[in-house]
Amino acid sequence: MRAMVLNRPKTQLLEASDWPKPIPTNDQLLLQVRACGVCRTDLHILDGELTHPKLPLIPGHQIVGTVVHTPLHSGFTVGDRVGVPWLGKTCQHCMYCQGGQENLCDQAQFTGYDLNGGFGEYAIADPQFCFPIPAGYPDEQAAPLLCAGLIGYRAYRMTQSSQALGFYGFGAAAHILIQLARFQNRQVYAFTRPGDEAGQAFARELGAVWAGGSDQPPPIALDAAIIFAPVGGLVKTALGAVRKGGIVVCAGIHMSDIPSFPYELLWGERVLRSVANLTRRDGEEFLALAPHIPIQTQVQTFSLEAVNDAIAALRQGAIQGAAVLTLN
Ligand SMILES: [Zn+2]
Ligand SMILES: [Zn+2]
Repeated sequence: MRAMVLNRPKTQLLEASDWPKPIPTNDQLLLQVRACGVCRTDLHILDGELTHPKLPLIPGHQIVGTVVHTPLHSGFTVGDRVGVPWLGKTCQHCMYCQGGQENLCDQAQFTGYDLNGGFGEYAIADPQFCFPIPAGYPDEQAAPLLCAGLIGYRAYRMTQSSQALGFYGFGAAAHILIQLARFQNRQVYAFTRPGDEAGQAFARELGAVWAGGSDQPPPIALDAAIIFAPVGGLVKTALGAVRKGGIVVCAGIHMSDIPSFPYELLWGERVLRSVANLTRRDGEEFLALAPHIPIQTQVQTFSLEAVNDAIAALRQGAIQGAAVLTLN
């Protein structure tokens, strides 16, 4: 099968490869990949910032595929459209798995990192960690729901009932979550790279009450902020923008070092936390909500072989919404 493969990190390019079609074990699905989202996490893997990928690796962890082969009692049948997220497998018996925090399982295996992902024509997946794709979403529009949506939703939940929300970085996740925020009558203040007027206009189009550069203060003190951009300096910025008791959530899997800051910025019971991965419950909740709102994703599509172009565009901040590979 055709696949785009990472042979060595830090080379920053995926290589076109003729890869053997995967053979599912007795408890795995075989999927024909229809679409796969490209995520900032893929950049961190390519750049060697996430340090232990399986190699060689087929990245891609926002897979929409059609079931070609299924074990008995998987809950899926041949022809079903299935979504495969970042959380590919857990041990299911550790303290975290048993305690509702399977996202923190030490034995977890991640799609497109520990396990081959969706930048190829076929993929195998554990059906227990797959989701049915809600009807009504074309393949390419469903793909970004699976990471930008799911992990973004987990970060959003951590802001509790905050009304005035700051989003630092207005990419794939933010463009999805602003729709949920508006549905819940919350106000979004969007921060982009300084000078990114197209990004700010995009945020306003989607209903941000204010949009500006991350070097600008918001017009009011925020109740909470989510940092999507992998920039450690934004932690200080966001803490400075939230009111007493406010919450700052770091939503990315990797961030540059956080500069030191005066305790005064955290004082006043401000809360700083990260969000790691996702649980299946996050996925079930979010994918039930998405068609109800309905969340609409804006995608820029690329062919499988053009994945390096998608990655370059994402790196430059040139994607409005989400980048998605489509396979025919
Ligand atoms: Zn992702
Ligand atoms: Zn576990």
